[in-house]
Amino acid sequence: MADEKPIKVIHERNVCIGCCACEAIAPKFWVMNKDNKSDLVGAKKLEGQEEVYELELDAEQGNIEAAESCPVNCIHVEESGKRKI
Ligand code: SF4
Repeated sequence: MADEKPIKVIHERNVCIGCCACEAIAPKFWVMNKDNKSDLVGAKKLEGQEEVYELELDAEQGNIEAAESCPVNCIHVEESGKRKI
């Protein structure tokens, strides 16, 4: 699709343990929810998936570092369809 953005940030929210690391690193994108899990700001829930959210961006904007900081590896970043983390 022509208007698709190259970066996809994916959050497997069901796996999140609420450690706050992503929020500390990229607070523009990650905020803690009162259920003690983080939310990926502006992300859309993927259809047919329990609690998986996706956000499309033009650039990764610190989300790779946020993903690297996640102790349970529930943040992923794809670039042009290739998984970076
Ligand atoms: S770093 Fe991972 S486990 Fe920690 S709050 Fe963020 S998504 Fe959840």
